[in-house]
Amino acid sequence: MQQDKYDAVVIGAGHNGLVAACYLQRAGLKVLVLERNSYIGGATTSISRYEDFTYSNCSYVYSLFRQEIARSLELYKYGLQVIPYEGGAQIIKNPDGTYDSMGTYWHEDAVRRDLERFSTRDANAFDRLSRDIYRQCDFIKPLLMRTPPDPTSFKPRDLMELLYLGKRFYGLGEERMLETIRFYTMSVGDYLNEYLENDALKSYMAGGATVGTALGVYSPGTAYILLHHAMGDIDGTVGAWGFARGGMGAVSKALNDSFLSSGGTVRVNAGVEKFIVERGKVKGMQLENGEIIDTKLVVSGMDLRRTFNAIDPNELPQWVVDRAKNFRFRGSSGKVNIALSGVPTFHGIPKNSPSMKGDLHISQNMDELELAYDDWKAGRWSKNPYLDILIPSLIDPTMTPEGKHWMSVFTQYCPYKLAEGEWNEQRKQAFGQHIVDCISAYSPDLKDKILHMEIRTPKDIEDETGLTEGNIFQGELTMDQLMFNRPIPGYAQYRSPISGLYMCGSSTHPGGGVMGAPGANAAREVMLDLGKRIKS
Ligand SMILES: Cc1cc2nc3c(=O)[nH]c(=O)nc-3n(C[C@H](O)[C@H](O)[C@H](O)COP(=O)(O)OP(=O)(O)OC[C@H]3O[C@@H](n4cnc5c(N)ncnc54)[C@H](O)[C@@H]3O)c2cc1C
Repeated sequence: MQQDKYDAVVIGAGHNGLVAACYLQRAGLKVLVLERNSYIGGATTSISRYEDFTYSNCSYVYSLFRQEIARSLELYKYGLQVIPYEGGAQIIKNPDGTYDSMGTYWHEDAVRRDLERFSTRDANAFDRLSRDIYRQCDFIKPLLMRTPPDPTSFKPRDLMELLYLGKRFYGLGEERMLETIRFYTMSVGDYLNEYLENDALKSYMAGGATVGTALGVYSPGTAYILLHHAMGDIDGTVGAWGFARGGMGAVSKALNDSFLSSGGTVRVNAGVEKFIVERGKVKGMQLENGEIIDTKLVVSGMDLRRTFNAIDPNELPQWVVDRAKNFRFRGSSGKVNIALSGVPTFHGIPKNSPSMKGDLHISQNMDELELAYDDWKAGRWSKNPYLDILIPSLIDPTMTPEGKHWMSVFTQYCPYKLAEGEWNEQRKQAFGQHIVDCISAYSPDLKDKILHMEIRTPKDIEDETGLTEGNIFQGELTMDQLMFNRPIPGYAQYRSPISGLYMCGSSTHPGGGVMGAPGANAAREVMLDLGKRIKS
């Protein structure tokens, strides 16, 4: 049979692969996307495994996706709707055994009033803290959609880009320059201690800075991760988070529809086994079913480990093979999706409070979070984990039957490798039960309302999405793995040592999260090599 000829093949229908595919197709190439799973989206999917219940299988909340990409790929036309949180709360257990909660979201005046109940000093300091975090975001945001320069190169483009970086940095002024250097190297715990006194508020802020990372709140470098949770926006509200209506699969679906409508082709159940490389150039690939697909241009949305595992190491310089091996994944996150017969109550949160319509947190202080990390180091799931608890169906009723709800629980820390042995069904159930027990300590009627539950350990996340060790960002977001270091110094510009093989997944700059930037940046580099500019 005559094989269809494609100008480019994108590996993986994760959201970044789809973004890259959309741009390449719209730039005039004939593009094929090959996806190993029977469904698209990778870690950005909505899945129905139980009748009438749809879960955001992995990623569950929206903010980071670059507006410019959503607009240029017409995602709103293809059905994407984003609904902001309406609440959020940090639950507080008082020393006398009573409970309270600190509203964290719905309006900055409301947040301030609530903070003042606990600490006037923190209510004032919180404004300063938010200002300083958003200033750091202002510095980094324009870099998200740019290709990092190679600092060792004398090519005019790299020099221009270094100059741009330098100008932005010096433009901060002396005080903020020094502050920025400190910020990037500090632990989130030390950073927050400089501003705040209230334990619960600090733990609320700090927990988010360990997400997806096998580091603790007192590990240097974690302050930066605060930005990954603050540099998004919804409808121009900076730092806001929300839900994609229908779950995060709505993002992938809109991308897929945008791609198909511009003439692209997607094949699911089409896992790539290995790349075919001749004399340093990619010639095609062999699928897991043995099928050979010829192409001179491949864009891999798989993570670095998987991309390099598909290349014969003899085709790669040894130092690159070693660097790729040393790129850190270290899965540390788990997820539990729970179907509920009704809305559970929480101690400290009044019934029908808007706080329920956002993220709920129960960690009481940063020491507790640090101890949770100690458990990970010892190969155990955390006794008192960081939990990000949401009931999306309170805002988006399309995902559950009427009157019923689903709860998304993201948890940190859960090891990829357990000290006691391999993950098995019994250990997985014990982990899920432990998470339910932890929430139940604050939600007395939760257990009565559980209809069924899906538990994801890092091993499950790896098996389902291909994210190595279940690392949610396709590799940790630490300074040694960011910007011109991501994924490998010398190969941070979406190209690989193999001519014609590019990378577009979250292992590349600017990293993980449902952001789309790696996919868009990679497509721009591909087209530059083809002598064409695209606007993203
Ligand atoms: C549990 C969890 C919760 C998260 N929560 C959030 C959140 O709320 N908000 C947020 O912004 N981010 C969140 N993230 C992070 C975010 O989802 C990911 O960083 C992002 O989706 C990665 O996208 P990607 O396209 O780069 O890669 P992936 O989604 O990993 O896509 C890679 C694709 O390649 C496919 N593939 C792998 N191997 C092959 C092969 N051999 N052949 C063909 N195809 C292959 C995979 O099946 C997959 O579809 C979360 C992630 C997880 C796991």
